[in-house]
This record gives sequence, structure tokens and C-alpha cells, in this order.
Amino acid sequence: MSEDKLVLDFKSEVDKVTSSAFLSAKGGDDNWNKLLVDYNVIPLTQSEKESLFNSQMKITKGAFPIELRRVLEVVIYKYAALNNPLLNSELSKFNMESKILEYYQKIKPFAGMGDIFKNASNSSLTKYSQGLQNEKQMTVKCKNCGAPREEEMQYDNCLFCGSKLFETNK
Ligand SMILES: [Zn+2]
Repeated sequence: MSEDKLVLDFKSEVDKVTSSAFLSAKGGDDNWNKLLVDYNVIPLTQSEKESLFNSQMKITKGAFPIELRRVLEVVIYKYAALNNPLLNSELSKFNMESKILEYYQKIKPFAGMGDIFKNASNSSLTKYSQGLQNEKQMTVKCKNCGAPREEEMQYDNCLFCGSKLFETNK
């Protein structure tokens, strides 16, 4: 198999799993769960999903970003094992954080300026910005997607997008 072909295969597999995630019903469906099984990926538990559904990280459709990340990690691992120079250079250029963020942008609710103005009439504007201030002081957020860390749950990576990058906003 030619080197170019391997690179193309890798890219098309990334596209394929990303579009499966996108086409999934909100939070995953049978097709998506089957794909997770095929890739030997551990899905989120029901309680993790419920916690995400109740979080401020709203999605309108699609599988949760962290599950897509887990699948993409398997894809990369599989191709890296081929130990092909051209492919390896392609793999090293792959930016997981931006790939996942890009996916999240596609499944999150559209927040146009109209919504902001609608919600921010007069007194509620002050309350709104005060709320943001308080929230800023209290939460630890994911650097990649902005999800707040749920204090009552123990986990190392962001539950929403799977990033390791937490930062404290103080
Ligand atoms: Zn995140």
C-alpha cells in the first residue's frame, strides 16, 4: 500500500467517525453506540450523560465530544502502529483539541446577537453580568471547550470534551 493511500485512509476514517458522531441523535443513539463497540471505546455512563445533559454545555444533536475524542484516539493509535514516516508526520500535525472544539461548534445551539439582546433587557442585563462575574470566580473551566468542572464528581479530564486542560478563572 502506498504511503499516500495510508494518509488518505487516515483522513477519511477521521471524517467518517466525525460525521457519524454529528449524525447521531443528541447524546448518542444505537448507530453511534455500535460504532463505539466497533472501536472498543468505553461510552459515558448513564449518570455521566445525565450530568452533562443538565450542565450548561448544551448540545442540539450529536454524540458527546468526549466520546468522539475517544474514538479518534483509537483511530490515531491504529495508524501510528503502522509506523509509516509520511503517515506519522500527518499524525503529528493532527490537533485533537481543535478538532473536538470544531465539532462542538457544530452541535451547540446557535446563539445569535438577537438572543443576547432579547435576554439582556434593562435590569436583567445587570443581573446577567453579575451572574457571570460570580460564576467566573467560582468555577474551574476547561481551556478547550469552557465546560465548568463539576466539583462533586471525580475526573481528571473534561467530562464534556475530554481535554486535560483545566484552568482556574480567578
Ligand atoms: Zn472541555
